[in-house]
Amino acid sequence: MQLPSPIDRISYNETSLFIKRDDLIDPFISGNKWRKLKYILKDATAKNKNHLITFGGAYSNHLLATAAAAAKYQLKTTAFVRGEQVSNEMLALCKLFGTQLRFVDRESYRNKPELFEKYFSDDENAYFIDEGGASAAATIGCSEIIQELTEPFDHIFCAAGTGTTAAGLLRGINHLNLNTQLHVIPVLKGGGFIREEIALYEQDLNKLYLHTDYHFGGYAKTTPELISFIKDFSTKTGILIDPIYTGKMFYAINDLVAKNQISKDAKILAIHTGGLFGIFGKLAEFEKI
Ligand SMILES: *Cc1c(COP(=O)(O)O)cnc(C)c1O
Repeated sequence: MQLPSPIDRISYNETSLFIKRDDLIDPFISGNKWRKLKYILKDATAKNKNHLITFGGAYSNHLLATAAAAAKYQLKTTAFVRGEQVSNEMLALCKLFGTQLRFVDRESYRNKPELFEKYFSDDENAYFIDEGGASAAATIGCSEIIQELTEPFDHIFCAAGTGTTAAGLLRGINHLNLNTQLHVIPVLKGGGFIREEIALYEQDLNKLYLHTDYHFGGYAKTTPELISFIKDFSTKTGILIDPIYTGKMFYAINDLVAKNQISKDAKILAIHTGGLFGIFGKLAEFEKI
């Protein structure tokens, strides 16, 4: 694994930008999912639990990261997958890494502790990992992104699904008392709730800036404008970004700088949280442009 992850400097549309390449940590245990799993797996191992039980959608980066990490550390994984049985590239890779898939209907999927209880209460090796790896342990791993920085930044950007990564980044910024603003781009519609999610882990929200208008219709929704932006960005920088998370974040950075809400002379760091296999879930959209 490549740690600390490197920082690249790029120029795109006259904006000069630094990118923390957490996408390069590992091809499969990529980005923030490794940061989140690090202390979760330490805890599982310390408790002698060798069977990870976790949860995700059919294109979940978390499922793939857990599958690959579990295989690397000789742990077993069972993944509850939301919705009817399907096959796709992501799930095929999970299976190659030895993950047992259990498809569950959307109703049952909602209550994860109940699923764990129902199927694994008598497996003493079973260890519960929430969807996306959301947990206090995960925020500690994510705060280490900040500890790896060797120079100051005015603005740090990240995409948010559960807000756990953002909470960890904010914790890192607060602990080191950095003069840095954290800009968070929720990828879901109505992303204001991310503020409360972050507050569960980190009380001081002074340096937090939420930008809730870059969801492009909601979670895993895209528009032709977003897809074209992703293609243009990758073509001009040589850095792939995904349509679910990082594409929306880079779009937001570009837009905020264009509107002068962020000065283009400021020092900006974008966290590339990985997730590139998400591209395969949107191939039809990329075909259209
Ligand atoms: C899961 C994921 C996120 C969201 O992280 P949260 O901690 O849930 O907010 C962001 N980017 C990528 C690429 C992801 O896979």
